[in-house]
Amino acid sequence: MPAQYLEAEQTKALYENSPGFVTHLECSMEGNRYEAGRPHGLSMAGKPLLVRYDLAKIAKAVTKQDIEGRAGGFWKYREFLPVQKAENMISLGEVMTPLVPLKHSVPNGAEVIVKDEGRLPTGSFKARGLALAVAMAKEFGQSHLAMPTNGNAGAALAAYASYAGLKTTVFCPDDTPEINVREIALQGAEVFKVNGLINDCGKIVLDGKKAVGWSDISTLKEPYRIEGKKTMGLELAEQYGWDVPDVIFYPTGGGTGLIGMWKAFEELEAIGWIGSKRPRMVAVQSTGCAPIVKAWEDGVEHAPLWENAYTAASGIRVPAAVGDFLILRAVRESGGFAIAVTDEHIFKARDDVALKDGFLLCPEGAATFAAWQEALKTGQVRKEERVLLFNCATGLKYPMPGSDNWLDCHKPINYDQFT
Ligand SMILES: *Cc1c(COP(=O)(O)O)cnc(C)c1O
Repeated sequence: MPAQYLEAEQTKALYENSPGFVTHLECSMEGNRYEAGRPHGLSMAGKPLLVRYDLAKIAKAVTKQDIEGRAGGFWKYREFLPVQKAENMISLGEVMTPLVPLKHSVPNGAEVIVKDEGRLPTGSFKARGLALAVAMAKEFGQSHLAMPTNGNAGAALAAYASYAGLKTTVFCPDDTPEINVREIALQGAEVFKVNGLINDCGKIVLDGKKAVGWSDISTLKEPYRIEGKKTMGLELAEQYGWDVPDVIFYPTGGGTGLIGMWKAFEELEAIGWIGSKRPRMVAVQSTGCAPIVKAWEDGVEHAPLWENAYTAASGIRVPAAVGDFLILRAVRESGGFAIAVTDEHIFKARDDVALKDGFLLCPEGAATFAAWQEALKTGQVRKEERVLLFNCATGLKYPMPGSDNWLDCHKPINYDQFT
């Protein structure tokens, strides 16, 4: 073994079989119980299932200090995760994603920090949810997984499933950026472009369940992607010294991350690792696809399907979310709000932050910056508040403006132009 080997291997060496702290699953709408230890889709009411743990037992099994002492990324929180067998904790070299304060693109005195999820395997935070979904599928002996995707989820599923030796079939809208379609294919999934939106792709997966026998890994239609995204909340609490920021701006598509973080804070408070303070949760969408914002403004619990959804920030182009009521509950209970920004503002924000702070946000990440700017203007957020933004994927996966400067090295060069 070389002296310097992959962080993935180092972390893996720390894994042990977990005694398993899961007690049961619970319908997020009706609260009735479902048995752990076997595969589940939605609840009987057609709503997402939430995994419940024996939190008192977790509190006895592990301390904050134990967790802080562990290397690696999200698997260090294994007591809070449902995977039991160490061999199923598949790892592609996850890291605890860094917090990067913005400096030149924000007014003096404002604390605006970006959590850079673009540094995870496959370049997006979809790695968190899909690692967990694949690990659980492996634990249950499922062999063929399928999902609709706008790009990043498919890439994460393909990568982790290939590593785990499972077959995957992925459907994406035919205007999904080519780079996403190719990375999905290259990492071992069978991928199809579909002349529709993500909900049309989702219907293909659902309707094919009987005929093909694949497992549906769609957002919130299996219980474990939330558990993976929950690690963002665990990580944040640890990074803030077992505290939380004042406001979190989250680019909201299916809302898995927002729901997951909310669950993380609830579990951490229950075991006494954080207090009752919660960040104000802000759901950020694009004006071209803003079902959650509309439902928040209308004061309703469910968001009707958004017709003719369009935004270049494809990760948040989700016209209907199964977990709409869970997103809205977290936003309301936290005293937060939902806000939509234009694509124009999103790309201006991306360009500004890249130019001034050298940080290339993805469009969805840029949407959170644009939303913070907007909210600062309207007074929905104050300059003194400690703000956390999510950069959910690497900006390198998205089309960028061209750069056309050109020089002829065989002719004398006019150096005045560089001064
Ligand atoms: C999936 C995705 C989102 C939305 O995340 P949810 O937790 O499903 O709301 C935002 N940005 C990017 C880049 C994504 O891939």
